[in-house]
Amino acid sequence: MLEKKLIGIDLGGTTVKFAILTTDGQVQTKWSIETDSSDQGTKIVPSIIESILHHLELYGMQKEEFLGIGMGSPGSVNHAEGTVIGAYNLNWRTTQNIKSEIEAGTGIPFVIDNDANVAALGEQWMGAGNNEPNVVFVTLGTGVGGGIILNNELTRGATGAAGEIGHIVVDPHGFDCTCGNKGCLETVASATGVVRLARTMAETFAGESLLKESIDNGDSVDAKMVFDAAREDDIFANLVVDEVCNYLAIASGNIANMLNPSTIVIGGGVSRAGDFLLNRITEKFKRYAFPPIYDHTKIKIAELGNDAGVIGASSLVLNQSTAEV
Ligand SMILES: [Zn+2]
Repeated sequence: MLEKKLIGIDLGGTTVKFAILTTDGQVQTKWSIETDSSDQGTKIVPSIIESILHHLELYGMQKEEFLGIGMGSPGSVNHAEGTVIGAYNLNWRTTQNIKSEIEAGTGIPFVIDNDANVAALGEQWMGAGNNEPNVVFVTLGTGVGGGIILNNELTRGATGAAGEIGHIVVDPHGFDCTCGNKGCLETVASATGVVRLARTMAETFAGESLLKESIDNGDSVDAKMVFDAAREDDIFANLVVDEVCNYLAIASGNIANMLNPSTIVIGGGVSRAGDFLLNRITEKFKRYAFPPIYDHTKIKIAELGNDAGVIGASSLVLNQSTAEV
């Protein structure tokens, strides 16, 4: 019998990425389309359906050859109902019935979860998580998100909001967060958070630093510049990076003490700083993790890059089918 395939979709604000995968996670082919979020985002789902049908025709494949379609989406996702609400970068303000529309349009079973959970599944399955059963994923991008996999299952929590790692408070007296609280991890470890921290620390730093000079001159500064300056031994930039890593270590320590994962995977744009970031977090992590837990927790940088979304999304289909057996 021909082994059935999976379709993984990573829906983002600028592109929709698609992949056809085998059930052991190998990407066979991938493509992408632009996200057209005009007209309250009403064109998005029809364009996804059209793109899938077009590619199946192109490859001479039938809907029966697929076990299912999995998708990661921004916004607040109701996994059980297959709906999304409040995905503002897609202009989805009201409830979108994604599952019913895509199943009707393609004739293939469909399952959806939020983008951070899906990236977590991807890294756990085929990336830095090494397919270990207990893995936590933290993504450092324009915001900070995360996903928790325990005993090989995504942890969704009572209302589907588990894994909001960006809103772990790491400094009760810290910066205001978009969520209304103060000092959430996101306010200091997201791409914008790193810059905000640098600007604040620049006010009191007295030594010589090209980075501080740039900030004082009103030049535009981004997170990558902060890490690059630190790598070039800029003293001030190193203080900022140390502070960012300390906050990440506090969050990682709390996560590890509570969940005892074998691996905490750090992904997203800020994680491109690689080992430079990783070594400092690991060194500080020791201060915040319970010693028997510290000894058995690996902190690693994500390995799948942009493919984490489509790979993790496709794995939703497999998790779904095992849960139903
Ligand atoms: Zn917050």
